Amino acid sequence: MIYGLDIGGTKIEIAIFNQQLDLQERRRIPTPKISYSAFIDALVTLVTQADEKYCVKGIIGIGMPGIIDANGLSLSANIPCVNNKNVAHDLGKRLDRKVAIENDCRCFALSEAVDGAGKNYSNVYGAIIGTGAAGGFTINQQLYTSRQGIAGEYGHMQLPASLQQKYQLPIKACGCGLPNCFEGYISGPGILFLHQHFGGDAVDVPTLVKRWHEGDALATITFECFLDILGASFSTIVMAYDPDIIVMGGGISLIERVIERLPTHIEAHLFTNFNSPQVIQAQFGDASGGRGAAILARQLHAV
Ligand SMILES: [Zn+2]
Repeated sequence: MIYGLDIGGTKIEIAIFNQQLDLQERRRIPTPKISYSAFIDALVTLVTQADEKYCVKGIIGIGMPGIIDANGLSLSANIPCVNNKNVAHDLGKRLDRKVAIENDCRCFALSEAVDGAGKNYSNVYGAIIGTGAAGGFTINQQLYTSRQGIAGEYGHMQLPASLQQKYQLPIKACGCGLPNCFEGYISGPGILFLHQHFGGDAVDVPTLVKRWHEGDALATITFECFLDILGASFSTIVMAYDPDIIVMGGGISLIERVIERLPTHIEAHLFTNFNSPQVIQAQFGDASGGRGAAILARQLHAV
């Protein structure tokens, strides 16, 4: 059996798969965020219960928000107790097995590249845009890994001065410590920020999308600006990796008109005569975190 542990700021979900990646079951528990020993104990309990139920010693992959550095140490704003801890090592020691670990958005990319929406392509970029903006790049169904694990962080590249000036946008501070990251404009909260910048009222994203579809002028201005900025941010992915396909997940990916129009807006930020890859919706959506973690575990044990 393969266990994909999808660890979030509020819940930990174990997704249990057979070797063919058919889902057997999922279970969720609250995430212990303050005590690291309680956090590890919770993971040990989930895995031990699964081992006992299926009479196996399952293999384990973890998908977690934040950065996992080259030494395996975590940095996560959502789960303070894991900061500077080597979760894969500590869990592996308790359970006497090798544990694979990756950022959850990279797990999403892997899941979509291996048997999701990107399965027929060699070079796949998987991007999740919801409350944040992150992703990962895969080559031949393997995650691209890099020296510090920050490659492809398009959400924390800076908005170009040309767009700043074009839309008269203020400089926004980002939670990562850098000024003016794309994430502050292209995430769900980013769209609402843009809408208010153009004089709109405080609404939620579904309402704004509805107004856009109805032809509301202010909603149209908001989404034109949003698509321009999103296109610029995705053009950095194309410039860096030139992927065959971009698979999008997260709340923003559910807005079909955004997906349809995005390639044109990416192209506007590329050299003349170069084109954008297709942008398509993810197949597994929210389930991709645990699924990608399981695939990572299978790859680790196949070596
Ligand atoms: Zn940032």
